[in-house]
Amino acid sequence: MTGTHVALPLIALLALVAGPAGSAPQPPIGFTPARGAAELAAERRFDTRVDRAEMGRWIARLSAHPNHLGSAYDRTNIRFVKSLLDAWGYQTRIERFEVLFATPKTRVLEMIAPRHVRAGLEEAPVASDPVSRQSRERLAPYVAYSIDGDVTAPLVYVNYGRREDYARLAERGVDVRGKIVIARFGEVWRGIKPELAAAQGAVGCILYTDPQDEGYSQGEVYPAGPWRNATMVQRGSVERIALYPGDPLTPGRAAVAGARRAPFATLAQRRHIPVLTTIPTLPISYGDALPLLRALRGPLAPPPMRGTLPLAYHLGPGPALVHLKVAFNWKLTPLYDVIATLRGSERPGELIVRGNHIDSWTSGAMDPHAGTVAELEEARIIAQRARAGTRLKRTLVFAFWDGEEAGFIGSTEWVEAHAAELVRAAVYICTDDTGRGLLSVAGSHALETMFEQLADAVSDPDTGVSVTARQRAHARFAPEDVDVDADGDGVHIGALGAGSDWTAFLDHAGVPSAYIGFNAETLWHSAYDSYAYVTRFSDPGFRYSAAQAQITARMTMRFADADVLPYRFGAFAATMQRYERQVEDLAAATGDAIAARNALIADGAYRSASDAVAAPALPFVAPALEAPPPRLDFAPLRASIARLRAAADAYDRALDAALSSSGEAARSSRRRFAAVDALAMLAERDLLDARGLPGRPWYRHQIYAPGVETGYSAKTLPMIREGIELHHWTAARHGITVVAAALDRYTETLERAAQLLGSGSRER
Ligand SMILES: [Zn+2]
Repeated sequence: MTGTHVALPLIALLALVAGPAGSAPQPPIGFTPARGAAELAAERRFDTRVDRAEMGRWIARLSAHPNHLGSAYDRTNIRFVKSLLDAWGYQTRIERFEVLFATPKTRVLEMIAPRHVRAGLEEAPVASDPVSRQSRERLAPYVAYSIDGDVTAPLVYVNYGRREDYARLAERGVDVRGKIVIARFGEVWRGIKPELAAAQGAVGCILYTDPQDEGYSQGEVYPAGPWRNATMVQRGSVERIALYPGDPLTPGRAAVAGARRAPFATLAQRRHIPVLTTIPTLPISYGDALPLLRALRGPLAPPPMRGTLPLAYHLGPGPALVHLKVAFNWKLTPLYDVIATLRGSERPGELIVRGNHIDSWTSGAMDPHAGTVAELEEARIIAQRARAGTRLKRTLVFAFWDGEEAGFIGSTEWVEAHAAELVRAAVYICTDDTGRGLLSVAGSHALETMFEQLADAVSDPDTGVSVTARQRAHARFAPEDVDVDADGDGVHIGALGAGSDWTAFLDHAGVPSAYIGFNAETLWHSAYDSYAYVTRFSDPGFRYSAAQAQITARMTMRFADADVLPYRFGAFAATMQRYERQVEDLAAATGDAIAARNALIADGAYRSASDAVAAPALPFVAPALEAPPPRLDFAPLRASIARLRAAADAYDRALDAALSSSGEAARSSRRRFAAVDALAMLAERDLLDARGLPGRPWYRHQIYAPGVETGYSAKTLPMIREGIELHHWTAARHGITVVAAALDRYTETLERAAQLLGSGSRER
């Protein structure tokens, strides 16, 4: 899935990077000075072994044919990747699941008034790109997990289809009940759009790419340039992943053969599957959208809601009358994850899990294979290192996930199947598509300090400066491109929502997780995500796939080989302070906004602003008055965070002291460090609450979650923040108690771990 350039929280790493240039390198976090120097030398050797030509050949091979979940070529790729891992000496296995997948059977979109236009719904082949001609093997443009349906209704344009867009429409007197909406891609995850449209009473949903967001307004279009052309369509999943990702029929349980499943054979049964859309939904190109939008009348869309097609953006409804019919092949589909293991020499019970997906919507040269080959290259070189006699302390698991595009299915089912072992997983390191662009990093904030340290050691291929220096420079001239999570004390790694395979690891199982990737350009999920596109535009020379391997391998090797797991809890505590301030400010701002709107309603401002004479008319309709929110008491949360801050700083200091004074041969320190690991890796689990989030028990993490109405992007302190945003005040108040309790558990774990670390000084 991903599409990181629009969807994921972007990096950080801007301000706080490691020591001044030229000074002796600090040992990596978690290493004694002597072992740290050896680790840095091993990383430099890794860099010299990266073989870009081989990575390019793998991309060409993996993307030679469409390779979606359930396709023959996906199976071929899975066997190929397994054979490589076997040859390199890994213990490999394929884990099979059986999951509900929907492929397109019928797609009809036509305007039947004021004139008849039938949408083409196909992506035009491009002469310079042979893969674009494989339309028979490829899944036609569609979204997976739309419900089947056949509707005819007037059309309404709803901009990005967010809650605020519907509020704006209501203000203009436009009602979408009984209508088909057309929403543009962008701003929030695509699956939110049909869900919100249905909640507003719409009966169908059309999604299209506006050229303002990803087409000719951004640059030359394919094949002249890397941007979306007039026939290109973004495929994707519209599974309601904010409820749960993975197999739609088996939430919380592994979808193994013979598992108990919800029935799905009839339309009536499918209507009971909570993660399918409730209205038929179809994605189209801007070429197909143009005549539909041009036929709309009614109020003009307010200026921020207008795209850049050559027309006046009216909201409707109608007179455009649209017929939308979609039907799908609903099948239990076999899914195959490739799992390769390299047993640790000293703490084999501790797992370091590294993964990228292997399935694609189309041929997927960029998404996922530019990322898949980075992981393969890491696995190849790390195996060489092991054969040369340097085994890593902890057990490494390289996973290649199938069925990610449909809703992170391969990773989710695997996490659900292996929940018991994953209690011993120290980290999940996730990548996905990658290519030329800025580095994007997000994850558990106990990993933030480590990221800063390791990313500064890797050069940006285009500029030769470190990837973090490039970030800093870019932010100076074009801060709008760097969607940093910043306030007051600098910029930070982003928080994870739900955009790729980390979701089950972090949000369901509480495994500390990281996502690393360079932001590639914009042809993902289309017929043109091809080898030709990668070599011409997204990563000529495969240099960014190589840089991704370098960064990710550093993280993987440091986690696998550190004397003590390289967490740094001070950064986590500081982040919690930041989030706490944010939700307090949000509560105050929300109260102010409600009061201001109530005052406008009382003053009759909506009536006075309306202009019925203009053509088109400019109506303003007053919303209903809303009761002012209750006061929320954040004091318990502030107190928990103060205790957390003290415990985190104490742990970080104790770790530095223990590592700098420890003789590496001392068996007693090794035993003690293993015990510290066992505790420290459990801290993230303390942030889970078995009851889950309100209305979505699968999501247990109380600090990070995908937004109910944003999807990909994260809501931190979700119960509190979404309670305030959605005006669910009781949930927000309850959230303060739940989050404070989770942080108290975390604090207690850190205190015990710090005590263990400190006990070494008394031993000697
Ligand atoms: Zn992907």
